[in-house]
Amino acid sequence: MGLVIRNLLALQEVDLQMLSLEEERAKLIESIELQTAEVERERAEVVEREARLKRIKVEIKSSEAELAETGEHVRKFEGQQVLVKTNQEYKALDKEIYEAKARRAQVEDALLEKMEQLEEETEALRQCRQKLDNEISGLERETGGADEQVRRIEEQIADHRKKRAEIASTIERVPLSLYERIFRNKKGAALAPLVNRACQGCHLSVPAGVESVLRRHASNIVTCENCSRILYVPEQEDAE
Ligand SMILES: [Zn+2]
Repeated sequence: MGLVIRNLLALQEVDLQMLSLEEERAKLIESIELQTAEVERERAEVVEREARLKRIKVEIKSSEAELAETGEHVRKFEGQQVLVKTNQEYKALDKEIYEAKARRAQVEDALLEKMEQLEEETEALRQCRQKLDNEISGLERETGGADEQVRRIEEQIADHRKKRAEIASTIERVPLSLYERIFRNKKGAALAPLVNRACQGCHLSVPAGVESVLRRHASNIVTCENCSRILYVPEQEDAE
């Protein structure tokens, strides 16, 4: 194994570590964003439920007014009935009283239903508020922890960056930029070991000539025809 490959492998190790640190950081940030969105949804639900409760209270007020009004009608007709002279008038008022009572019963039913609704909605709102409070405190707790984790990961990334610069400075420009281009394209390993004449990057066999070139001219840079990764013969195989 040539020196260039050795240095590129060292560089790749650092780059792969940085890649996974960056993924870890992205995941942390994403999970915080998801939780924040969840809290916002919960908050919107509380607002919606508060508005609904307010509407029910308004409806109850108007039902109560209506109940008082229909009750007033019943009393008014009953009062009139005492004073009537003819049977016909009496019967007419009977009908009015009957209808007013029916209306009053309807309004009463509706009012009862709304009272029940009020009770249910009040409880639902209470639970919803509690859930929101729990989520907010959970989020605060986790955000604090995640912020600290992100900060630590960023420190590690900065350390790796320094180490990377040191290694990169030992590699010539041409192989270095070839390596960097492949690493960027693959979003991962740019070097692939050759095992049993198969590229371990794409698992396809390479022509026999490739292996002998690699074994004889260790300083040559040879890429896989299929996946374009830089091929190398691993140490243990090299020694055989
Ligand atoms: Zn390959």
